[in-house]
Amino acid sequence: MIFNSNTMQLEFKNALAYLTFNELNKIPNIKHAFSTRLGGVSTGEFTSLNMSFNRGDSDENVTENYKRLCSALGIRYEDLVASAQDHNTTVRRVGEAQKGIGIYKPKDMLSVDGLITNEKGVALVTYFADCTPILLVDTKLNAIGACHAGWRGTVSRIAQITVEKMTAEFGTNPRDIIAAVGPAIGKCCYEVDRPVAQRFIDLELSEAVVRDIGSGKYMVDLLSANKQILMQSGVKESSIVCSDVCTKCNCDLIWSHRATGGKRGGMCAILEIL
Ligand SMILES: [Zn+2]
Repeated sequence: MIFNSNTMQLEFKNALAYLTFNELNKIPNIKHAFSTRLGGVSTGEFTSLNMSFNRGDSDENVTENYKRLCSALGIRYEDLVASAQDHNTTVRRVGEAQKGIGIYKPKDMLSVDGLITNEKGVALVTYFADCTPILLVDTKLNAIGACHAGWRGTVSRIAQITVEKMTAEFGTNPRDIIAAVGPAIGKCCYEVDRPVAQRFIDLELSEAVVRDIGSGKYMVDLLSANKQILMQSGVKESSIVCSDVCTKCNCDLIWSHRATGGKRGGMCAILEIL
């Protein structure tokens, strides 16, 4: 395994590996990470750090994986609260009362693709395998947001909806947001058919995100699309950092749905105000 990135670093703690952005590490009182496949207890197609509860792995193993990741990051397992993602655009404000939901308490909502909070010690958990993780930090009002943008979420502007929800709930000015667009399937590997490509063309973004490679196939740049949508939402370009780590190209390190043919675990993104 060779890891090469200009925007993210691979960190190791207690034999567990995770990825971070320096731009977010620099913000005081914020902790974040993206899990890898390395350092967990799951076996078979979930080897070894699987953070997805609903794909056939045992709950015991996934729970232990969360505990190990929390221990490596210095985050309390009790503080985790997870989304309930289904490629829609509901963004939920969570706090102390929601801790544990989707991790050690049952889900109480069916469709939650984004989470926001302004409470300390509430660790937002979203999960991925090729889809785009987006983390948002309002550095002025100390509020955070996380969302899941696959192709459906991206073209439905979940990134913008999450920014707008932070504004509505906390008074966030988008210009105070530092945004990270995390590891997802890159434009090198994300091939789609015409109907999906057309949805991206219909976004009318200023920089093209669709490349025609012939025979009815197109390559789409999910990360650039989300970056441009964040900019349209008022986030400054200089405040957005994008991963250059393609999940499919790095499938030994990070969960990729396409690279594994769907036989896979999941990666999670964690974001918390300390
Ligand atoms: Zn790739």
